[in-house]
Amino acid sequence: MTHTNVLLLEDNRPDAVYLTGILRTSGFKVDHAVCLAEALGKLETGAYDVGVIDLCVGDSEGLLTFMRVRQAAPLLPIIVQSGMSEETLAIQALSNGAQDYIVKDRITPVGLTRAVNYALERRKIQQELTASEERYAVATRGANDGLWDWDLRAEVLYVSARWMAMIGLPEQDDRISPTDWHARIHHDDRSALAAAVKSHVDGDTEHLEFEYRIRHEDGTYRWMLCRGLAVCDVHGRPYRMAGSQSDITQRKRTEEQLIYEALHDPLTGLPNRTMFEDKLQAAVDRMRGRRRERFAVLFMDLDRFKVINDSLGHVAGDQLLTEVANRLRGCLRPGDTIARFGGDEFAILLEDVSLAVDTHRTAERIHEVFARPIEIIGKEVFTSVSIGIVHSLLAYTGPGDLLRDADIALYRAKHAGGGCHVTFDPALHASAMERLQLENALRHALRQEQLVVFFQPIMDLRTLAINGFEALVRWPCPERGLVSPGAFIPIAEETGLIVPLGYWVLKSACEEMRRWNERHGQEVTISVNLSPRQFREPDFVDCILEIVADSGLPPRCLTLEITENLLMTRQDQVAGMLQRLRDHGIAIDIDDFGTGYSSLSYLRRFPIDRVKIDRSLVDGIMKGSTDLKIVRAILALAQNMGLEVVAEGIEEAAQLDRLKGLRCEFGQGYYFARPSLPAEHVPTLLEKIA
Ligand code: C2E
Ligand code: CA
Ligand code: CA
Repeated sequence: MTHTNVLLLEDNRPDAVYLTGILRTSGFKVDHAVCLAEALGKLETGAYDVGVIDLCVGDSEGLLTFMRVRQAAPLLPIIVQSGMSEETLAIQALSNGAQDYIVKDRITPVGLTRAVNYALERRKIQQELTASEERYAVATRGANDGLWDWDLRAEVLYVSARWMAMIGLPEQDDRISPTDWHARIHHDDRSALAAAVKSHVDGDTEHLEFEYRIRHEDGTYRWMLCRGLAVCDVHGRPYRMAGSQSDITQRKRTEEQLIYEALHDPLTGLPNRTMFEDKLQAAVDRMRGRRRERFAVLFMDLDRFKVINDSLGHVAGDQLLTEVANRLRGCLRPGDTIARFGGDEFAILLEDVSLAVDTHRTAERIHEVFARPIEIIGKEVFTSVSIGIVHSLLAYTGPGDLLRDADIALYRAKHAGGGCHVTFDPALHASAMERLQLENALRHALRQEQLVVFFQPIMDLRTLAINGFEALVRWPCPERGLVSPGAFIPIAEETGLIVPLGYWVLKSACEEMRRWNERHGQEVTISVNLSPRQFREPDFVDCILEIVADSGLPPRCLTLEITENLLMTRQDQVAGMLQRLRDHGIAIDIDDFGTGYSSLSYLRRFPIDRVKIDRSLVDGIMKGSTDLKIVRAILALAQNMGLEVVAEGIEEAAQLDRLKGLRCEFGQGYYFARPSLPAEHVPTLLEKIA
């Protein structure tokens, strides 16, 4: 149990004995000093809960005694004793902070004990109050909130030190005039804040809660969240409003940052698609408005991005895109918007263009800036851009249809070989729609197995016997009639439908050929066309081998026809795939030879069996000397390299004779047989020739 320690200052010994007796009886511990100096000495070292002091001691007189003790122990509750004649002195001590006083000669045990207990009690309350005040002060400081109290009648705004500090004003001032406050509010927020205050004062809102900007002494604006409540008089009229204010500048910045990130491309810092579409919608609205402001959209992508990205890597790709963004920025006027949609797709919104020729000029400028090489990771690369242009038309209601048409125009520009721009016109739309319908119908046809394979024989020109067949796909479409592969293969390639389509053709052709060989007791080959796109499938070779195995056709009876452009990219991978096929006995032919950048020496790198001379060259051998020379050169080189040659598109006996004279080993064409369905129907025709 802790004792209450009482410091007793009393120079009169009998009095001291009397008082000490009473205090000890009441359970207090008493420390006695006979003079002020002794009392002060004790206060320095000991801890006391209450002091009972005589104002007149040997070394000090009157109020001074009290003041000295108080100075030494400001928090010690003090009870002063005074003589009968000194009561005024005691009262003075009270007003200076003494807890109580007792009058000598009137002291009773009960009275003294009670005075000490009261003094202790009062001190406890005092301590609690101080603690709670401190807690409050710490809490408001901790919450970083400034407090305000607005006297609506006196037009004074009382504010806390924190409130002042938040905007850099001197903390000792505790008020600001509403006018000064108002003057600091950001111009754009003034009327809205006034309206928010008014609607709360009018009772329309339960409390005031408003975010606004206020000018700091350093000249910058800070975002504040102001919360408040009006207090009403007995008549229900508000006379006072009070509340808090917190600095939310940081939160606002974070919000702004998030909004910025949601609307921009992180790589180039350009607006992204979302923001572009917003701006486009605004432009559409303005165009449909009274002033009929016209605009144009340029939709573009890089012609060689994939090649650069695949060959030099993503870091280089990113650098390229950043540089492209910089160059595009340089082509535009201040009001124009340029955005990156992702990948190598960029879009530009040209506002307020009255003449189509202005848009055309911008497109020309863009082509020009890409004529210069771009340096990335120490290498110079060239890339051209393809651009699709759309001009604002009243028919447009939003970004969706505009961007769709821009995309159609871009597609045209790409197909024209890239490096150019195409302006959208509604006829393009019609053909794009046609394409889309064709794609859907083709998808359907593939699912329903509506496609068929025709067979055209490949003849051995030396014996005029059938060497094999080429499988050529056809689409008997209920609405369109018999659609030729020239019309739907490109669409199948773009959409990736060529992959399932190709497997299906391979399967049908192999099965048909196995039956044909069985029936005729012969072993002729079947040639199946492949698109470069199919080689992008990771398990392509495995799938081919599996299909052939399932069909029961020996792999040596299968020839795959590829085109030269397959050999232009990913050379090592492609060579590896071809080699694997060849290891299984499958032969590889190069189709349409002589039309592209053909080079036989280039073929040396790939495992090839035969070369098929393109129909256009065969067509030319009877007409001019150039084609004849080319065909002769191909045959000579092929023989040199140990490759066989097939001439395509033989239509006349004269062509056949000339090719035989040139020692061309194989041939196919209408002269022998048109592609027919199925291979079974071919021999009857051939018997006539033989
Ligand atoms: P290609 O591989 O060069 O096929 C030869 C084309 O020439 C065929 O056209 C054939 O019908 C035609 N032809 C054959 N002999 C003569 C002739 O004496 N005179 C003329 N004027 N033409 C002749 P088709 O069947 O329309 O095929 C066109 C192209 O479509 C093919 O050219 C081939 O590249 C592609 N193709 C056809 N079937 C498939 C397939 O299953 N898969 C893939 N990936 N492509 C295919
Ligand atoms: Ca072919
Ligand atoms: Ca061909």
